[in-house]
Amino acid sequence: MLELGDSSPSNKRGLLLRLLRAAQPVSRTEIAERLNIDKSTVTEVVKPLLDTGILREEKLPPAKGQGRRNRTLSFADDNSYFIGVNLGVRRTQVGMTTLSGQIVEEDDFETPGTHDIALRKVKRCIDEIRQKNAERRLEAIGISVPGMTDPERSGLIFAPNLDWHNVEIAKALEQGGIRVVVENDSTAAAMYEARLKIKDTTDGLLSNFILVRSGTGIGVGLVIGSEVYRGSGIGRGIAGEFGHMTIVAGGKKCVCGNRGCWEKYGSAAAAASLYLGDRPLRHNETLPRFVEIVAKAENGDNRSRRTLEMIGDYLGIGIANVIMGMGIPRVIVSGRLVYGWKYIETPLKDAINRSIIGKTGGWSVEPGEPAGAALGGALEVAVEDFLARI
Ligand SMILES: [Zn+2]
Repeated sequence: MLELGDSSPSNKRGLLLRLLRAAQPVSRTEIAERLNIDKSTVTEVVKPLLDTGILREEKLPPAKGQGRRNRTLSFADDNSYFIGVNLGVRRTQVGMTTLSGQIVEEDDFETPGTHDIALRKVKRCIDEIRQKNAERRLEAIGISVPGMTDPERSGLIFAPNLDWHNVEIAKALEQGGIRVVVENDSTAAAMYEARLKIKDTTDGLLSNFILVRSGTGIGVGLVIGSEVYRGSGIGRGIAGEFGHMTIVAGGKKCVCGNRGCWEKYGSAAAAASLYLGDRPLRHNETLPRFVEIVAKAENGDNRSRRTLEMIGDYLGIGIANVIMGMGIPRVIVSGRLVYGWKYIETPLKDAINRSIIGKTGGWSVEPGEPAGAALGGALEVAVEDFLARI
């Protein structure tokens, strides 16, 4: 059963709407049963949405042998849409979605080195989508960034892998009063995974979990009491920067300026340098891509397998630390590292078992989405922000 006991009323509403979006068309009774809440609580949340026309309730033909017609709820999203932008370290994706969650990817380009050029390009993509959808209403724009955001979620404070500092993203993209929300990409991915997995989960995973996103770097999204946790006070927007916790004293130099950061050892990008034995690149040599290392491992290449096992070990060491610090024993790993899960899983779990967490039992680590959570997360940010405001 989902743990709603410690959730605030707004958390319950958020969780209910997340389930509704994931499982629609779905009846009030099923929602109440799945969330272990009264049907009257469901009605309380859905009534204003039915009144405004955002939700619709339809009668289904009665099931065989049943006299009663079932009524189901679903979002009526013909008139509105949302835009999501994932500003990735390597590539940027821009897409749109509706309330029911159908993603239409519009554009994908290499992320320019400077934020001015990147945001100009993003703005052009947004304008194109708006022109194509002129008859519909754009409700919100969600931007996910590989770094820390300001407490207001309007700008980026620092993205180490892009070397961007203090970028006022919302200001650069705002027009016509459309709300622009900037979110850390791992937090956004956690929101996306929460909705994706809520359909098949009934055991509390979605109320409290840690999302570890491993690609070019490592980012961590935290879901506590069904809501994402971003930090508090002036630290709001910086929680989850575990990718830059030191796990090797005096270790490899990191883009953040520190040495021995977790993401230098446990990210998908770290696999390339590990594969080459951490030597400098030779003339005309390029770093192998993560999927190439996985493909070689599949073909029986020992060096590739060993590389992936070492990544699993480092990732597991860091995950054990995060579980210990947060007291949340459920972990979902997402990002392109998931492509090598077959080789990573065992050493990762061995590393957790060696830690004190291994003595407690009851922990779990499972793979999530290898790719979809980037743009999916940005779109989720826009939709959740809209639903929280109505
Ligand atoms: Zn670092």
